[in-house]
Amino acid sequence: MRPAGPKPIIANTDTLMPSTAPGATKPPINWPATLMLSLTALPVVAALPVYLWFADPTPWVWFWAGLLLAANGMSITAGYHRLWAHRAYKAHPALKWLFAFFGGMAVQNSILIWATNHRQHHAHVDDDHRDPYSASRGFWYSHIGWMLRNYPGAEPDYSRARDLLDDPIVAFQHKHYLWFAFGSNIGVVLLLGALFGDMLGFVLIAGFARLFVSHHFTFFINSLAHIWGRQPYTRTNSARDNDFLAFLTWGEGYHNYHHIFQADYRNGIRWWQFDPTKWLIATAARLGLASDLRRVPEFKIRRQIVSEQFERARAALETQPAHGRLAELRTHLDEEWQQFSHTLAEWTALRSKELDSAKQQLRERWEASEFKRELRALERALEEALREQQWRMQALSRQLGRQLVAA
Ligand SMILES: [Zn+2]
Ligand SMILES: [Zn+2]
Repeated sequence: MRPAGPKPIIANTDTLMPSTAPGATKPPINWPATLMLSLTALPVVAALPVYLWFADPTPWVWFWAGLLLAANGMSITAGYHRLWAHRAYKAHPALKWLFAFFGGMAVQNSILIWATNHRQHHAHVDDDHRDPYSASRGFWYSHIGWMLRNYPGAEPDYSRARDLLDDPIVAFQHKHYLWFAFGSNIGVVLLLGALFGDMLGFVLIAGFARLFVSHHFTFFINSLAHIWGRQPYTRTNSARDNDFLAFLTWGEGYHNYHHIFQADYRNGIRWWQFDPTKWLIATAARLGLASDLRRVPEFKIRRQIVSEQFERARAALETQPAHGRLAELRTHLDEEWQQFSHTLAEWTALRSKELDSAKQQLRERWEASEFKRELRALERALEEALREQQWRMQALSRQLGRQLVAA
């Protein structure tokens, strides 16, 4: 089903037969997206350096460019991505309208198309024909190439977006997307230029340069965040955690975590990880503008990390015949595995106790809630056991690495 509304600016993909074989004809160029991306980049490359050499824009130009960059960027990350694509929390309509406006101003297509494509990306990550911006097709394709041609198989699959089709704000923004995209950019930038008496400075810096930076920093999430960084949670897909990219992408650089726990409203889960989008959502919740923030339990996160550590250690051991120090390390690994299995069994037992306690709560409220506190204390003890095991496994992996290099 194709909803009413404008032809998409980006990723308008009326499909042809797929072919990546050498000599095969390339899919036709997606002119609206190609023109939009190149015409907005042209003034940045051709005119901005000359302007900066000769002119001296007012500090207000930089201030507003930064503010609009943040508003556009975080409307994409907190709105398009974590709210609409992943339903990681619920938002007040006032906040949704703000995201719809400033997200539209980021010119990355309507919420409906963006979020539908993104759900497809998660469901088929790294699949060359079903992931709309599959990283396995290389940096250029996943960064921008996928938008420049009408590639086959990338038509948004709206069967994944029933909830979005029912959202009146999403439907309105989709129907009037061109107004949101171009009206907002032209209107806001020209108004600011007139207000501060520096039309050229505002158009070039708060207009074109801000849009160019906003585009490419978001595109890095599909390209670089699938190529460059560490994979502490899983190697079953190409997504990476990268602190530097998190800095450029309003916290979306913790992409290895995000691909395995996509419903979490956080991407950087530790307090020290740079994730302004998470802070924005948490602040909105305090102000009553957001609710039902979803967080993956700490135990599950640690369990995932430790499982991955075991997989890597085992894979490394398999490369060498185990004797001497390597045999010792293998025994050590087996002991750690027993400890891990024991912790997991305790966790399962705890969960079933918790379920029983929830049933009991209907009968004996007070006692049940006391019991719940006890269970919570046990849960923390198990989390701690896993955290300690994670450090031990890290040390073990280092020793293993040294032995394998020496072998
Ligand atoms: Zn991804
Ligand atoms: Zn996502």
